[in-house]
Amino acid sequence: MLLTPGPLTTSETVKSQMLVDHGTWDDEYKRDTQAVRAELLKLANAPQEDYAAVLMQGSGTFAVESTLGTAVPKKNAVLMIAINGAYGQRMAQIADYLDIRHVDVAFAEDEITDWSRIQSELTAHPEVTHFAVVHCETTTGILNPIETIIPKVHAMGITTIVDAMSSFGGVPINTADLGLDYLISSSNKCVQGVPGFGLVIAKRTTIDQTKGNARSLALDLYDQYRTFEEHDGKWRFTSPTHVVYAFLQALRELNAAGGVTARNRRYAENEAKLREGMAKLGYEPVIKADVQSPIITSFKYPSQQFDFQALYEYLKKNGFIIYPGKVSNIDSFRIGNIGQVFAPDIDQLLELIKQYSVVEV
Ligand SMILES: *Cc1c(COP(=O)(O)O)cnc(C)c1O
Repeated sequence: MLLTPGPLTTSETVKSQMLVDHGTWDDEYKRDTQAVRAELLKLANAPQEDYAAVLMQGSGTFAVESTLGTAVPKKNAVLMIAINGAYGQRMAQIADYLDIRHVDVAFAEDEITDWSRIQSELTAHPEVTHFAVVHCETTTGILNPIETIIPKVHAMGITTIVDAMSSFGGVPINTADLGLDYLISSSNKCVQGVPGFGLVIAKRTTIDQTKGNARSLALDLYDQYRTFEEHDGKWRFTSPTHVVYAFLQALRELNAAGGVTARNRRYAENEAKLREGMAKLGYEPVIKADVQSPIITSFKYPSQQFDFQALYEYLKKNGFIIYPGKVSNIDSFRIGNIGQVFAPDIDQLLELIKQYSVVEV
């Protein structure tokens, strides 16, 4: 069982969809692609008249790079990036590669991207035309307050981009109410599909103006969008057919289990059980409970002698894969709460760590 931020443990029924081969020109495949696109808009609370779902081959980063490289014009545009972890940092790195002018607003990794700081930076930088922030910063598992930030940035006439990679499907997001221009996620996180494509929920009036912006042919989000729209769900270039069918099944299972609200509840229960159980065993979380997401939890090493690799190997032998830490200045490790993971699984994990701690620590 994977207790990781994705790829994560998926259901047998999702995996079994990949046993059939499909042709990409087939009408049925195009219809199923359209069904995926329509369902994604519902999950994002983004009406079809105003938004379009654009799928992009590759991992989540390909979708982020495609969005930044297409949304931001080559001239007279400046991107502000609010950064409190590795994924915010990655957007700055993408901007460097693509020669996009950017203003980085850096926060500590265990602090949310706070609106008042962003507001004063926006006042100091009237040249900013685009704004990007990560929703759940998977580096630590902190949940940034996009409900506060995005409507205010949007009201200033700035194009808004949210990397909701690890939260979409597991945390409710009201894309239209926020006035959000681009929401980015991927097939292998909270929808509980397998890796293979990214997805972008784009506001039509915004993406309609991005023709010719792209710095890359393969990652041209505008051209990808137009191909889906004009050819009834036909992907541009070869698509990950098996992954699309697994994803369609994952969407059905998400709805059958009660949608995003029910999934959020299950993940939150996993997270609370994990955090409380670990505290009893002497493991302190990196992130304060009030800004902790239900997605993934970071724990500080309990002592200087703590050997993460040894705990990792022990849990692996007993059926669980956990994740190393990514916080720059704190020795930590991470345990994911997402995927086909339920309360009894967390109980079992805690029991194993308890036994391990008695022997090793
Ligand atoms: C997973 C993730 C990504 C994308 O990572 P890939 O390895 O390219 O799939 C981007 N942002 C966040 C916040 C993530 O959790």
